Amino acid sequence: MTAHPAYGELRQVTPSAGVVLEDNPGAMTLEGTNTWLLRAPGATTCVIVDPGYEDVPHLTRVAEAAGEVELILVTHQHPDHVQGAPWLAARVDAPVRTFDPALCVDAPPLTDGEVVVAAGLSIEVLHTPGHTEDSVCLAADGAVLTGDSMLGRGTTVISDLGAYLGSLRRLTSVPPGTPALPGHGPELPDVAATAREYLAHREERLNQVRAALRELGPGATPRQVVEVVYRDVDQSLWAPAEWSVRAQLDYLRTTGEAS
Ligand SMILES: [Zn+2]
Repeated sequence: MTAHPAYGELRQVTPSAGVVLEDNPGAMTLEGTNTWLLRAPGATTCVIVDPGYEDVPHLTRVAEAAGEVELILVTHQHPDHVQGAPWLAARVDAPVRTFDPALCVDAPPLTDGEVVVAAGLSIEVLHTPGHTEDSVCLAADGAVLTGDSMLGRGTTVISDLGAYLGSLRRLTSVPPGTPALPGHGPELPDVAATAREYLAHREERLNQVRAALRELGPGATPRQVVEVVYRDVDQSLWAPAEWSVRAQLDYLRTTGEAS
C-alpha cells in the first residue's frame, strides 16, 4: 500500500483496480474523491466507479485513462461521487448504475447480492446502508470498493447508526486480508479488521452516551448529552458533536435504551 498520488494521475493499486484522485480536498472528502477504474488484466474495456463532481478536467482525465468504458457504477447518492456521472456517461457512451433508481442512466438500479459482470470481472454488490440509505460496497477480484461506508482515514458521517452497525457486521465477514478501496483517502489492507475497529469505536461512543443518560435521565436532549460527554472538549466542536449524538440517541431509542 502506497501513499496517495498526485491529482489526476492513474495509480494502479491492485492488478485490476487503479485510482484517479479528484482535486477536491475538504473536511468531508479528505484529499479528494477517489475515482476507481476496474479492468481485469488483459480486458479491453473498463468499469468506472464514482466519477466525482461534474469536474470536467477530472472527468476528461478519467475518460482518457479508461479507454473503452463498459459501465459506470456509483457507490452512493452524494454529489462528490455521482454529480459527474451523467456528463461522463455522455462522454464515454456508457450506462450508469447505482442503488438509487433515480440516479441511473440507461440501466436498472443495482440490487443487493447481484453480481455485475463487466470488463472481465465479476463485481458483487453489497448493500451497506448507514452513511446513506443507498450506500453499496462492490467486491471485485479480491478487493472491496467501500465508497464512504469505510474511509481510508478517520470515521465517516452516519445518517442511520443502526443500519450502519449492521453493515459493519456484514463487512467483518469479508475474507481476512481483503483490501478496502475507499471513496476517500488511501486504501486499507483488511476490510474485516477495519470493520471490527469501527464497531469497537462506535460501541465505545455508545457507552459514553449510555453513561450520560444514566446521569441525565433517558429523556435527555442531544445538547445535554454533548455537554456531559464532551465536557473536556473545546466548545467549538459541540455543534458537530450534537449531530452524531442525535444519531446515537435515535439508535438507543430504537433499542429501548432511551426514551
Ligand atoms: Zn464522499
